[in-house]
Amino acid sequence: MKLLVLGGTTEASALARALAGDRRFTATLSLAGRTANPVPQPLDCRIGGFGGVEGLAHYLSEHGIDALIDATHPFAAQMTRHAALAAQFTGTKLLVVLRPEWRAEAGDRWVAVDGMVEAAGALGSTPRRVLLTVGRKDLAPFAAAPWHRYVIRSVDAPPGDALPPHAEIITARGPFTEADERQLLVERGIEVLVTKNSGGSATRAKLAAARRLGLQVIMVARPAPPAGVELVATAAEAMAWLELQHAATLLGA
Ligand code: NAP
Repeated sequence: MKLLVLGGTTEASALARALAGDRRFTATLSLAGRTANPVPQPLDCRIGGFGGVEGLAHYLSEHGIDALIDATHPFAAQMTRHAALAAQFTGTKLLVVLRPEWRAEAGDRWVAVDGMVEAAGALGSTPRRVLLTVGRKDLAPFAAAPWHRYVIRSVDAPPGDALPPHAEIITARGPFTEADERQLLVERGIEVLVTKNSGGSATRAKLAAARRLGLQVIMVARPAPPAGVELVATAAEAMAWLELQHAATLLGA
C-alpha cells in the first residue's frame, strides 16, 4: 500500500519508525519545513506545502496514494482541514492521529481560553512575568499587550518583528524534565505560563512544575477536528488501522 504521512510530531516520527522496513507499505513522510533542523527520519521525506487542498489532492492522485495519515500537531488545523477535503475529493482513505488533550489535575490553577487573543486578554492589565510556549506563529496578541515581561520558548527563534518588547527568547526542543522546567520558572521569576493544550508527554513537565509552584496556567483549547474523520490517539493504533486496511486490500474489499 502506498501511504502519505503528514508529520511534524512525535506520533508521526513513531509511525515512521514502525513503517520503515515494513514491506507491506511504501510510505512517504511529509514535513512543512518550518524547523531549521528537523528530527532525522527513517522514511522517504518530502518537505514543504502542497499548495492548498488542490495541490494535496493532485499529489494524492499523481502518486497513487492509498491511505493518507494525518499525524500533524493538534493545532495544525489548516493542514488537517486540507487533508480531510483532499481525501474526500480523491476518495483516498484518511486516518487522523490526534493525541489526547491534557486534563487539569488536583492543584492545577488553569484558566481555559479559546484562542491566543483570549489568552493575551486573560493575562490582565497588571504587568506580569509570563512564560509563553505557544510557538512562533501566534505572538501578535502578546505583542499587543506589551506591559507584561515575556520569556518565549520555541524550537526556532521567532522573527524579530513579531516580538513583544523586551522579550527573552529561549530556543529549545523537548522533551523537558520537571526539574528543568521548575528551574526555568523559578530563575526567570515566572508568574504565569501560557500554553496550547497540545497533549503528549514531551512538553507536559511544565504543567507539573507550574502545579508544584502554584502558578497559574492559561490553557488554550485546541481546534476541533473536521466532522466525520476517523481518529486514533497513538502511532500504535495508526499501525493497527493500516494493517487492517492492508488485509482488506488483500481480500479485495
Ligand atoms: P497549519 O497552519 O495547519 O498549515 C499551514 C500550511 O503549512 C498548510 O496549509 C500546508 O501548506 C503546510 N503544512 C502544514 N503541515 C504540513 C506537512 N506536514 N507537510 C506539508 N505541508 C504542511 O500547520 P502549522 O500549525 O503551521 O504546522 C506546521 C507543521 O509543524 C506541521 O507539520 C505540524 O505538525 C508541526 N507542528 C505544529 C505545531 C503547532 O502548534 N501548530 C506544533 C508542533 C509541530 P499547503 O497549504 O501549501 O499545503
